[in-house]
Amino acid sequence: MYQSLGQLKETKVFKDPVHRYIYVSDQLIWQLIGTKEFQRLRRIKQLGTSFLTFHGAEHTRFHHSLGVYEITRQLIDVFNGRADWDDQYRELTLVAALLHDVGHGPFSHAFENVFGVDHEEWTERIILGDTEIKRVLDQVGEGFAEEVASVINKTHPNQLLVTMISSQLDVDRMDYLLRDAHFAGVSYGKFDLERMLRVLRPAHNQMVVKQSGMHSIEDYIMRRYQMYWQVYLHPVTRSSDYLLKAILERAKELHNSGYVFDIHPIHLIPLFDQTMALKNYLALDETIVYFYFQQWMDEADGTLSDLSRRFVNRQLFKYVDYPPEKREAIHEKLAELFNKIGLDPAYYLLEDKLSRLPYDLYGENGEISKQPIMLQMKDGQKKEISQVSPLVEAIANSRQTDEKLFYPQEILYDLREFANEKMQIDQLLLGGYANETSH
Ligand code: CA
Repeated sequence: MYQSLGQLKETKVFKDPVHRYIYVSDQLIWQLIGTKEFQRLRRIKQLGTSFLTFHGAEHTRFHHSLGVYEITRQLIDVFNGRADWDDQYRELTLVAALLHDVGHGPFSHAFENVFGVDHEEWTERIILGDTEIKRVLDQVGEGFAEEVASVINKTHPNQLLVTMISSQLDVDRMDYLLRDAHFAGVSYGKFDLERMLRVLRPAHNQMVVKQSGMHSIEDYIMRRYQMYWQVYLHPVTRSSDYLLKAILERAKELHNSGYVFDIHPIHLIPLFDQTMALKNYLALDETIVYFYFQQWMDEADGTLSDLSRRFVNRQLFKYVDYPPEKREAIHEKLAELFNKIGLDPAYYLLEDKLSRLPYDLYGENGEISKQPIMLQMKDGQKKEISQVSPLVEAIANSRQTDEKLFYPQEILYDLREFANEKMQIDQLLLGGYANETSH
């Protein structure tokens, strides 16, 4: 049996730019916020390199995790007293909301891509491993930490809790859309959270939307769609992400070939060697990564130092749209020219093709979600939203694609002796157009 740690004598209140106030009255939540593993999230930005595009987007995973907790708290208030909500799950759900991102590392997407780090796996290891978080959870009772992990990894038998934390319409997305829009300084992501919470209902194995709430869900879907193309997949952010990945790839390659760095990158070696222990992982954050990037600006390896300088000083690669049928020819010509002037095309020439269905935007990694948004119709039936809403149906079927080439365009301006090659490249790119990376 579990033993609740009870309520605080006085409710703690955090000032929050998105929800105005975040209220903590449970001893358990308060103790978890105070653990060093949770505090570490203050040193990891929510949107990775997006601040190089939207300078306000410096908010951290700490902000977001508190926000997800607060939305869950409000949602449980809405659910409380309804037949399908069992209030014995209150603390469990709040803890899962608070800790759902605790395994994120610095610049998650780039690190996952280059080193195969999986933040979901680390979340579980932190909740179940030798950590302050685990010790706090153990006070509630044996098996509680495992139960928290199972809500987060979606295996908990009560799927209502799972869909609250993670589905096409979940507390995680509700917070990050509002928060990312706020800090990026854009209006696309701002939907009416209060209204949304009022139309959600617990059903025995999932969260549903009452039929009259359909239009507020349509609004949410449109805003999410816009946030993807305008903020998350912004080409300048893609450019800064590539630079970051290129630096990490280069450092890894140098390490693997026996290169000796001026300053031994002791924090990153376990990543290069795939020998990461929990203790090493928890010691990583973005300040550490920046430390190495600053050091590497003066490394003997020309590629590593140039890429690091570009990242730290925000001299990003430009991007260009190009006619798809000329892709191979353009790539070949540019690679040839880069080889002539001593730039390794593996690091300086990046092709990127994005293709997304707006419906994919609900599931991670482009997979069709198993947790679609369900409307509860007036007659009690449940229907998937695109079967009822013509608007959702229309955008669910319109695939959008985007192909871009990223490279250090300014280098080409100074190459008098390669005027001929440059002209050929310019002609191939005709029909596309070069973009500045300012935004
Ligand atoms: Ca999240």
